[in-house]
Amino acid sequence: RQAGRTAVVTGSTSGIGLAIAERLAAGGCNVVVNSFTDTEADHAIASGLAEKHGVDAIYMRADMSKPDECRALVEKSIERFGAVDILINNAGIQHVSPVETFPVEKWDAIIAINLSSAFHTSAAAIPAMRSAGWGRIVNIASAHGLRASPNKSAYVAAKHGVVGLTKTIALELAGEGVTCNAVCPGFVLTPLVETQIDDRAREAGLDRETTIRDIILEKQPSKQFATVEQIAGATAFLCSEDAAQITGTTLSVDGGWTAA
Ligand code: NAD
Repeated sequence: RQAGRTAVVTGSTSGIGLAIAERLAAGGCNVVVNSFTDTEADHAIASGLAEKHGVDAIYMRADMSKPDECRALVEKSIERFGAVDILINNAGIQHVSPVETFPVEKWDAIIAINLSSAFHTSAAAIPAMRSAGWGRIVNIASAHGLRASPNKSAYVAAKHGVVGLTKTIALELAGEGVTCNAVCPGFVLTPLVETQIDDRAREAGLDRETTIRDIILEKQPSKQFATVEQIAGATAFLCSEDAAQITGTTLSVDGGWTAA
């Protein structure tokens, strides 16, 4: 349990981020839920977590493609809660295309949201974590932070970058009570992957089940998706006291993908 801590989870209105926000709230954390929109449904996620788990939870709009908004998310969270003890850099997008035709604006957006946002939020969070002598930064990287696949140049570059950033921050903060690690999921069935299933099924002219088994889960030896709850569990572990000496490393939750 991380009772009484305050956690900021970027990109937490859907998929893995939402499951992490829920898990941390269940452990007694106050939670800042984030995305780039500002709808009633966004705010309802935070109020739902607060009600269900008896914690303080709010929704803060911030676009993780914008450096100032990344930093402001953390700064406003510190103002509101007095601290950001746990920072989960989760926001991410995908685009699949060969490198020679990869749209420049998609490259820029993926590098900004999947990599640079973690630099900006961490830079904003570290001074207060350092002076408190306690902090946890968990970056949701990917098996693609450790391995490549064709047609995912921006994503693979960004996720390898996140793993490098994770190691560097860990070294800068070693011995100060602040850890920085990366969780590397294999395929998890979320809206981000649903789009890929639809696209690949259409391209290959295959049904959904065959596409999942033979194409999407081709590299995942378990042939099973990891669940958002499993990613949340691994993340919560890295935020625990048991993980105090785990820093600068990657925790794969990928059904054996990166063992090969
Ligand atoms: P998702 O599409 O379900 O959720 C992404 C979240 O990020 C959403 O809440 C979305 O609103 C938010 N987001 C998108 N752009 C944003 C922006 N500019 N500013 C703020 N928030 C923004 O995706 P997911 O599958 O849950 O992915 C979450 C993270 O996990 C990503 O970093 C992704 O790369 C990583 N990941 C996912 C898988 C997988 O198989 N699903 C595997 C490995 C890694």
